[in-house]
Amino acid sequence: MAGVNQSVNVTLRVERCIGAGQCVRAAPDVFEQDESAGTVVLLAGMPPPDRWDAVRRAVALCPSQAVTFDPR
Ligand code: SF4
Repeated sequence: MAGVNQSVNVTLRVERCIGAGQCVRAAPDVFEQDESAGTVVLLAGMPPPDRWDAVRRAVALCPSQAVTFDPR
């Protein structure tokens, strides 16, 4: 329902991640890369609304469709 406790669900399919780092560049407060494996790590599964555009950019930029953004 619009305007009532909206949240965001960001999910990862790490097995798809190729470590390209586009998500980290788009939203460094939401994603980071594992130092050894280089794969994505989720820092904020429910980022605030002012970060939604950045998360959407991360989804669009990810070359392996490893990031899902599911606003509720
Ligand atoms: S942009 Fe996609 S492939 Fe690259 S690190 Fe992020 S999740 Fe992994």
